[in-house]
Amino acid sequence: MHITKNEPLAPYTTLRLGGNARFFARVTHTAEIEEALRFARAHSLPVLFLGGGSNLLVREGGFDGLVIKIETRGIEKKEAGDHAIYIVEAGEAWDAFVARTCSDGYWGVENLSGIPGTVGAAPVQNIGAYGVELAHTLVWVESIDTQTQTLIRYTSSQCQFAYRSSLFKKELNRYLIVRVACTLSTHATPQLTYSDVAEVFTTTAPRSPQDVREAILHIRAQKFPNLREEGSAGSFFLNPIVSFGVADALVARYPELPHFSVEGGVKLSLAWLLDHVLHVRGTRIGGARLFERQPLVIVTDTHATVADVLQLQKKITEDVETACTISLIPEVRII
Ligand code: NAP
Repeated sequence: MHITKNEPLAPYTTLRLGGNARFFARVTHTAEIEEALRFARAHSLPVLFLGGGSNLLVREGGFDGLVIKIETRGIEKKEAGDHAIYIVEAGEAWDAFVARTCSDGYWGVENLSGIPGTVGAAPVQNIGAYGVELAHTLVWVESIDTQTQTLIRYTSSQCQFAYRSSLFKKELNRYLIVRVACTLSTHATPQLTYSDVAEVFTTTAPRSPQDVREAILHIRAQKFPNLREEGSAGSFFLNPIVSFGVADALVARYPELPHFSVEGGVKLSLAWLLDHVLHVRGTRIGGARLFERQPLVIVTDTHATVADVLQLQKKITEDVETACTISLIPEVRII
């Protein structure tokens, strides 16, 4: 394993911004992960685990510690009757894994097609899209607890999964996810409740997970930026989950506001509020702007700075607070 010094982090994030890592290690085997953690302990360095960098904003000051970029690879499939368990190494690209399961004919993660990032990052925020979240198919996560230096297998119920959250998100940089197991089925279980997906299948039902995958990839291509063209970290803000009282007051004012009962309260469509209450689609500060086709997403052009993104985040957060009395939480991790 080779450790470099003062490595620029911008090329490793999809926002393409930010300063340097004091130390940087690229790990391709579990043994190298352990070696990198030993180096960090020996030099009393904080660690940052990096996958695809698709949910990360690094400040100009960079990271004064060791960044461990996880590039371990491998997908093992164990078939058992009508289902298969996939054991996937953390450094695999999430979407490559989904592509594989769909072409194998297994149902379960097809709605999660097109999400950038790695398999190891997926459990941290319990990635979700179009009515499906990782927790629905995940069997276990193997992770190194850096406080005790032990490799522990957490069953799904031990992972404390919630809306875009998990045990691993509650204590970021404590748990280094090494591999993940998911169970998928040959039985058709299409989840078509979200209107964008339902519209595709109004007259014909999907015949395979591949059909659903193709529909989702098409929908996402209309709504989300092409990372080859612009910088972005996907949805910059979480959809707020508010109390029934706050939701009732907002729905009384804005009867069209999409809202959904979830554990812990009512989930509101932030994109709708940004569009219909604040009218901020396309708002720009410097080289950062709210994406014209989906206002939850901040996109960055080649001239954007970290300050542009942070100022835009601050402006939107303050405007939503003033207009709707809702406190926004960034979905993107800011280092
Ligand atoms: P959308 O489908 O226009 O939905 C807008 C909002 O309404 C979202 O908050 C969504 O909740 C909710 N919603 C819509 N239909 C629902 C239903 N039938 N039941 C419960 N809630 C419903 O959202 P979009 O912005 O185009 O995004 C499409 C999907 O990709 C969404 O599921 C979104 O969350 C997901 N996405 C995930 C990430 C991520 O994990 N980082 C990033 C970008 C987009 P949910 O957010 O709970 O689905």
